[in-house]
Amino acid sequence: MKTLRTVQYKVQSPFVNMGPIKLRQPLPIAGIDNVDPFILLHHYGPYAISEFNNPFDLGPHPHRGFEPITLLFKGEQLHRDSLGNEMVVKAGDVQWTTAGRGIIHAEAPTKEFVKRGGELEGIQLWLNLPSKNKMMPPNYQHIEKQQIPVVLSSDKKVSLSIIAGIQKTETGPIQTQTAVNVFTAKASKGGKIEIDIPAEHQALIYLLEGAVLVNGTAVLKYADNQMITFNQDGNTLAFEAREETVLLILSGAPIKEEVAQYGPYVMNTQTEILEAMRDYQQGKMGHLY
Ligand code: MN
Repeated sequence: MKTLRTVQYKVQSPFVNMGPIKLRQPLPIAGIDNVDPFILLHHYGPYAISEFNNPFDLGPHPHRGFEPITLLFKGEQLHRDSLGNEMVVKAGDVQWTTAGRGIIHAEAPTKEFVKRGGELEGIQLWLNLPSKNKMMPPNYQHIEKQQIPVVLSSDKKVSLSIIAGIQKTETGPIQTQTAVNVFTAKASKGGKIEIDIPAEHQALIYLLEGAVLVNGTAVLKYADNQMITFNQDGNTLAFEAREETVLLILSGAPIKEEVAQYGPYVMNTQTEILEAMRDYQQGKMGHLY
């Protein structure tokens, strides 16, 4: 039987400054430390990129203990990492890094894209790893848009891209360490869909563009409120687009462990954070120049 979840929080997506980069950060936000297993959500852009405006250039930096994921909605980025990967990520593509015991990576718009100019927009998501996986070997998965299965709503107005997890008859191509669903949705005005979410998952919807009515009760609108988290009291999320809309839909089995986070590391204890800092300084997370 389908039971709609009730809304837990409805929040804005305020701008924060990350060095010279201005981006939206709905998670963490005052009152919500995380939506276990999701630690952080950054929505960057749309930026008008050109040779004179290229703010989103992230040089080499380390990670340990979680999975940093980039979903690119507009533009083109170059991903490089200490495993030797060097990949161009295009709009609709996904890069899913399992940092495990340590990786160093860098991302920035490609030189060709900067020269050509255009809009850059994406999501960066930090998905936690359980303690037993925090020190696993690092791994990188790159999925192109064409490899991502799509589920259409019965009114054909909503297309749901299944990046990870399961929906209706489709399974996402990403190999995950824990049970998670990562879907994106594009909807035209009036489009409706119901999404199955395991009852034990925590879940959220984030709006990148447009406006939607969620579960018949709550409205999300760009630049107003952009994220809803749900109580674990049902197995279904439903929405109806009020205009052209782009959404991110996340659910995951909560890990339920202590979270010790500092800078680019997400561990269980402060001691493990200090170890991560030391291991990075000693070159144990690899090298990238
Ligand atoms: Mn990073």
